[in-house]
Amino acid sequence: MKKIGILERVLIGFGLGIIAGAILGPEAAALRFFGTIFIRLLSMLVVPLVVSTLAVGVAGISGVKLGRVFGKTLFFYYVTCIFALIIGLTLANATGVGRGMELGQLRDVAQVTAPPFSEVLTNIVPTNIVDAMAKTTMLQIIFFTLMFGVAMGLAGRTAEPVRAVLGGVADIMYRVVGMVMWYAPIGVFALIAWTVGNHGLAVLRPFALLIAIVYIGCIVHVFVVHALFVAYFCRVNPLKFLVRVKDAPIFAFTTASSSATLPVTLRVVKQVGVSDGIAGFVLPIGATVNMDGTALYQTVAAVFIANAFGIQLTIGQQLTIAVTAVLASIGAAGVPGAGLIMLMTVLTSVGLPLEGTALIAGVDRILDMARTAVNVVDDITAAAMVATTEGERLSPDLYRSSGPGVAA
Ligand code: ASP
Repeated sequence: MKKIGILERVLIGFGLGIIAGAILGPEAAALRFFGTIFIRLLSMLVVPLVVSTLAVGVAGISGVKLGRVFGKTLFFYYVTCIFALIIGLTLANATGVGRGMELGQLRDVAQVTAPPFSEVLTNIVPTNIVDAMAKTTMLQIIFFTLMFGVAMGLAGRTAEPVRAVLGGVADIMYRVVGMVMWYAPIGVFALIAWTVGNHGLAVLRPFALLIAIVYIGCIVHVFVVHALFVAYFCRVNPLKFLVRVKDAPIFAFTTASSSATLPVTLRVVKQVGVSDGIAGFVLPIGATVNMDGTALYQTVAAVFIANAFGIQLTIGQQLTIAVTAVLASIGAAGVPGAGLIMLMTVLTSVGLPLEGTALIAGVDRILDMARTAVNVVDDITAAAMVATTEGERLSPDLYRSSGPGVAA
């Protein structure tokens, strides 16, 4: 009951934010700090929440099962991503988005080189875990916590007190999330007012097709691809499922941050019946490396930029864009605007002008909101699919064939 009240208030904040933004225009920027406080409140929970839930989650999954769960997690993360890439490239090519902007080929294209693979890999290993936590370097934190959790499981009884403490920390953090949710309507109001005020209609118009395509692509990905996957693997009614988890994409949409939304994502996934162990394992990793929405956006953005500069992309180049978009989405942090920065890697891979990112930057927040919502739904569906294939039952009322407890 309490939870529904909060969501309703968030939606009211959302609606009032649109109105305030439309009335105030750029003046709405003065409200932004209320939204920044909200994002900071959520962000401050991320490190303790990830460490406690992931460590306890991993320790609870024993040896062979851990490898299997990890394999499934990666499988569900990236098999859906292939569909995101196909949707992005198909929509972008079919509509010729960006054509007619006639920006011509810019000279002096600045060269940004992607860091070598060896460096990317090396940087996953922290030299100092306290430093990684202080800087919220998520991949390093996850790497350490995975090892810590496995070792905690192996240590057995001697590690019990630590496990109990971490379990307690996770519980406490969930309650703090509940407190932060009371502030959510104000934060959402401010963020939406700022976004609407900052992006008047005039700014959006030349980019209307780009925005429409990214949004349509995101909607198709969630309501067709994710829905079919959930229906097939979990045997639940996908619409009921998506409605039940809607708080998380709504928060992702307003904050444009998968990491900041993680506390909410963990909550909704438990509400659909995924166990703490699977949720604690799949979601913190997903918030960092699983970003279908970002990959979809990057393929559309790359084709948009090519068309805007009058560059014809070959099929081979489009494939390169798709592959780099997956890697770039893995590398992107779950924070606002990360996908735009990583877009440079995608553009570099096929020699597209990096100035293209500046072209998009003005409307990136609008695109970021949609792609982040998809990123979060992607994590949620992956958690549900891993849980079901591990023999867990989701909430009985989600199943299509009525009757609680009907075997899948
Ligand atoms: N904002 C996105 C996220 O947090 C990342 C991106 O910029 O694409 O999931």
